Amino acid sequence: MKSKVAIVDCRKYKSELVDHAVGAAVELLGGWQEFVSPDESIILKPNLLARTEPETACTTHPRVFGAVGRLLKQAGFQNLYYGDSPGNHLIGVEQTAEGCGIRQEAEALQIEAANFSEGEQVPFPQGHAADHFVLCKGVLEKDAIINLCKMKTHQLERITGAMKNTFGCVYGFNKGASHARFPNADAFGKMIGDLNLLVRPRLHIMDGIMAMEGNGPQSGDPTPMYVILASADPVALDSVFCRLVNLNPELVATNVYGKEYGIGTCKMEEIELITEEGVLSMEEAFSRWGNPDFNVERDPGFHGQLKSIGFLQPLLDRKPYIKKANCVGCGICVQACPLDEKAIYMKKGKPAYRYRKCIKCYCCQEMCPEKAIDVKTTRLARIADRNWKL
Ligand code: SF4
Ligand code: SF4
Repeated sequence: MKSKVAIVDCRKYKSELVDHAVGAAVELLGGWQEFVSPDESIILKPNLLARTEPETACTTHPRVFGAVGRLLKQAGFQNLYYGDSPGNHLIGVEQTAEGCGIRQEAEALQIEAANFSEGEQVPFPQGHAADHFVLCKGVLEKDAIINLCKMKTHQLERITGAMKNTFGCVYGFNKGASHARFPNADAFGKMIGDLNLLVRPRLHIMDGIMAMEGNGPQSGDPTPMYVILASADPVALDSVFCRLVNLNPELVATNVYGKEYGIGTCKMEEIELITEEGVLSMEEAFSRWGNPDFNVERDPGFHGQLKSIGFLQPLLDRKPYIKKANCVGCGICVQACPLDEKAIYMKKGKPAYRYRKCIKCYCCQEMCPEKAIDVKTTRLARIADRNWKL
């Protein structure tokens, strides 16, 4: 049977429009009762990467969160919670949610915060890459998760969508430790695959009304895509996102391992794209919503695929670097580095890199609130990408 992905047009973050789009997308998949039941406790899990304004397109927009909460409540699902473990654990879950406008929506709808401020180690011996996770307690205490992900780029994984959004179920600084344990896109993709097998959100709803392109997941540029996507299959959902931005889904490690682990499919012939007007081909959907110029990494090389080039690896890695004019010296990038012996440190009030120690996890880039860290491809890597079959 094909994986269904619902796609509904939405032009503005206006409550009536977003409520309609989210409601229509879920109806196209059979309605809420296909995924959850009213006697279950349900966590709505937005992307709360950082305490940023909704207009930056860094986090799930509060209107999308509000639409899901409101529609569920109207349909008789009263036992709702919300939560996500933000990138900067020191700021706190509810403070981050407040900065993103999510807490206000939650309070208006009487949706309580689940416990994402404490963690518990969970063995996962059947994991392909990870044999345990430290999950937020809220994830363990509640029955079901509805994943409210954001359509964004990501410097390590190319995109962050439904699969990667589950990473916020991992508690606090353990996310940084995971970057250290799984330091490239390939290994990280395997770990994200395992995490999805463990937490298995029931339904994934993607906020693609205003997406983020370029230097994501925090410092990119908002760009309109005008869609709400929904699916029970996170790999299919992310793959449709990829196709809409002219990126081969099989270049995304979370898709590759999501398919290999049986979570879903990234093959378009195994995906049925449904709209309010009926079934559409991917080509028809692309002509309506696609953006071939969306700024995302499309080169087939580098990310987790350079396994056998030994001493050349450091010359080919994509390096983070500081854009000094933007840097305010806050030191968040140093806190974000997951290594015991940090590969970024403060020198005369500004950060500096120890590239020989750096594992290229890009946590520093991800957490910089000032867009002061970018990632550059070395000249040798560009030459290799053009000329070598790596
Ligand atoms: S690079 Fe960003 S996170 Fe690091 S000190 Fe500068 S502004 Fe702060
Ligand atoms: S310096 Fe940045 S990219 Fe390098 S290991 Fe630390 S957080 Fe990761």
